[in-house]
Amino acid sequence: MSEKTFPLSKTDLEELVRRYPTPFYLYDERGIRENARALSRAFGIFPGFLEYFAVKALPNPFILKILSGEGFGADCSSYAELLLADMAGIRGEKIMFSSNETPAGEYKAARDAGAVINLDDFTHIEYLERHVGIPELISCRYNPGAAKSGNDIIGKPTEAKYGFTRDQILRAYPLLAEKGARRFGIHTMVASNELFLGYHIETARMLFELAVEIKEKTGLALEFINLGGGVGIPYKIEDQAVDYRELAGGIEDLYRRIIAPAGLGSLRIRLEWGRAITGPHGWLVSTAIHTKSIYREYIGLDSCMADLMRPALYGAYHHITVAGKETAPPAETYDVVGSLCENNDKFAIQRRLPKINPGDFVIIHDAGAHGRAMGFNYNGKLRCGELLLRSDGTVMQIRRPETVEDYFATLDKEAVKNFKGNL
Ligand SMILES: *Cc1c(COP(=O)(O)O)cnc(C)c1O
Repeated sequence: MSEKTFPLSKTDLEELVRRYPTPFYLYDERGIRENARALSRAFGIFPGFLEYFAVKALPNPFILKILSGEGFGADCSSYAELLLADMAGIRGEKIMFSSNETPAGEYKAARDAGAVINLDDFTHIEYLERHVGIPELISCRYNPGAAKSGNDIIGKPTEAKYGFTRDQILRAYPLLAEKGARRFGIHTMVASNELFLGYHIETARMLFELAVEIKEKTGLALEFINLGGGVGIPYKIEDQAVDYRELAGGIEDLYRRIIAPAGLGSLRIRLEWGRAITGPHGWLVSTAIHTKSIYREYIGLDSCMADLMRPALYGAYHHITVAGKETAPPAETYDVVGSLCENNDKFAIQRRLPKINPGDFVIIHDAGAHGRAMGFNYNGKLRCGELLLRSDGTVMQIRRPETVEDYFATLDKEAVKNFKGNL
């Protein structure tokens, strides 16, 4: 069971909305910090443990600064994400650059930043060498293929575009060593939003056994294992959150049995979690602006799928509450929808909720990761802003809402005026 709470009362919210009209994202600093500390405590049993927060989950430099303050690094996969990490003061080996189909310019930016480069393919060894040179420290992403089953969001490893095959990875490290690399890491990411603890422990076993095989076959000792992201959060009330201590304990047990006896005792553990860190500590706050009664009952919000696309994209469940009606019994069955001219712009379908009236604040839970970040501008929709509830109870805006000027910023208005449609 997971509890679904919101840190502000209806009265607090009414006051806040006078300063910052809905829709907006609200993130809870205290929740994020406590969560970060719980992870660091649990995995503190591994010397030199490091979590690289997956920037793509919540690419806001204010949030990255908070996480950096908790000792986290950053997992980046593009030039802009490298700049965000830099803005937050996360530098050098505290950055893991895990990208795929990487352009030369981005490899160069990662190398210049001193980030740990994580190669996604065997051919990238030569590509990296040609364009930026092989760094001393390098990592490779492993795709276990049929050796591991995937899950719904990420799909089967054999069908996933990421990583090296087993055969390729065994050939990669000696080749990298020949080209000058001296320190090596390995990475994998085989699941997304996976709540089953045993799955993640098995991923660790797979990499531990591979690290031993690499040592035996190539003589090279890996410096770290990055278990990637993909740990789920309890989106549904009946879901059970992953217990960090149990997870760390399960991994430590395998470490003692597999890694220590193989003489790999200085192997570090790295994670690259995004969703599990900030997901439960962010909400999309909207106002119900319309009710509509046709073949179904609809609640129309002032936000739309341009602000949060997970329900439309994956059919993902996000819990919904109504401010001031948290304990009211469900009285109606609604489709809660946004204003896009796309019928999949629905935050909830046939959801039992308390009766909602125009003006009610509708709160969409667990939107702190892969929420605002996945937004887009289809239909001329402008993405909402982001607010941070500080640990001292004050609220600050950490990203303003988009304006039409932002929307038109890539157009040359003068050129449009002068353009003659007919040649
Ligand atoms: C998306 C991603 C992550 C983070 O995934 P979560 O599901 O948010 O934990 C980590 N590493 C890589 C390479 C990713 O693509």
